[in-house]
Amino acid sequence: MTADTLPDPLRGLISRDELREAVQRGTIRTVMTVVPDILGRLKGKRAAGLALIERVDDGDGIRVGEACSYILASNADMAPLEGFDLTSWHDGYHDMGINADWPTLRVLPHMPHLALLHCDAVDTDGAPIEVAPRQILRRQLERLRELGYEPKIGWESEFVLYSGDQPLVNRNSDYDLGFPPRLGDFIGHLEDALPDAGIEVEAFKAEGAPGQLEVTFPKSGVMEACDNFTVYKHAVKHLARRHGLTASFMAAPVTGVTSGLHLNLSLWQDEQPQFAMPSPRAQPTQTMGHSIGGLIAAVPHLMPLFAANTNAYKRYAVPHSFAPQSTSWGLDNRGCAIRVAGHGTSSRLEIRIAGADANPYLVAAASLAAIAQGLDEKLALPNPCLGDAYIDDTFAPLPRDLSEALKAFRYGHVARDLLGMQVVAHYGRAAQVEIDEQHREVTDVERRRLTLA
Ligand code: GLU
Ligand code: MG
Repeated sequence: MTADTLPDPLRGLISRDELREAVQRGTIRTVMTVVPDILGRLKGKRAAGLALIERVDDGDGIRVGEACSYILASNADMAPLEGFDLTSWHDGYHDMGINADWPTLRVLPHMPHLALLHCDAVDTDGAPIEVAPRQILRRQLERLRELGYEPKIGWESEFVLYSGDQPLVNRNSDYDLGFPPRLGDFIGHLEDALPDAGIEVEAFKAEGAPGQLEVTFPKSGVMEACDNFTVYKHAVKHLARRHGLTASFMAAPVTGVTSGLHLNLSLWQDEQPQFAMPSPRAQPTQTMGHSIGGLIAAVPHLMPLFAANTNAYKRYAVPHSFAPQSTSWGLDNRGCAIRVAGHGTSSRLEIRIAGADANPYLVAAASLAAIAQGLDEKLALPNPCLGDAYIDDTFAPLPRDLSEALKAFRYGHVARDLLGMQVVAHYGRAAQVEIDEQHREVTDVERRRLTLA
């Protein structure tokens, strides 16, 4: 038996010592050292295992490499964008240090011989780069902890599977369990791969648009849930390709279809649930009330973190799609942006604002920042939406597009107060570049309607 065919006994999270032994045994050859970029994608290198181990053993134990700073200043096409303080042509897109966050080290049994390590981008002094998504989230976690709360979150993610340019299933098969074989095979593969990669799943389900799936995750620590989400998304895309399929996480993959990334969130003190209600239709606890108050006040100013590109706003343009259209809240009401759900220890806020493509670190950070403000200022709980949220006009509509969202984000004081000027300038600039890019683009729809008009 060669090292290539040796079974690897490792599953999920592993220690640095286990990595060293596996690399020496030859069962792990390569470590993907990854940094989430501003869109939440994993960017990094495939580091040769032996060289990496030597480097960290001989070095400071955490520096695993360097990478071009444009990882934090580029768009979906990986075009290097200008106008950022962090980096640009003015400094030739310098290197950032890449430091390991060792407790995140895991194996990916669906990609044999590979391990994956989440890392943080640091400057030349080794200080964290404040506009890096993990660091933005870390700051907001610190703030909430200072107020005495520990959040737990669980994601609910939707995506659409395509075979060629057609959805894999051609009808709404919401809650169906009779999957066609190709879909069943893909889900089965994912059901094996995710726990083996250290990611617990609550449920898979067919969703309400052709080819759409939903995956829900149990609640866990916030950074862990976001790191896991990035690995999950990477695995979905990878396994889809292995099955000859394409997975799209666009928020509005085609006109009229919406895919969301819902955030289920609860607050805890000494492992005691601070949102616990006897039923989702009961009166919210005081802590939950202030949290909702904070979200309703701040979310309109933080929208580029929930919906970073122009496509994401098309998701809010579809009434009765189950995607929200206003900053509303309600008791177990799926038309609202914030739905109170669950009971007892599962009582939670389901924050339904983010589109499927959103960066999980930024969605979590924005939500926590808004909640911390609500708790700090003891903001009052507004009246709930009691009926059809799509026609209730007591709540502010979500912005129609990224330009409107950017105005509130960049020129109001709320985002600056909650996130700091550096973060607002960086993500405001990213949004502006995206708007300018899309603004120039002549679309198929314009050509179809106007060529012969
Ligand atoms: N697809 C809807 C959205 O974009 C959510 C459907 C659901 O309630 O799970 O948010
Ligand atoms: Mg769903």
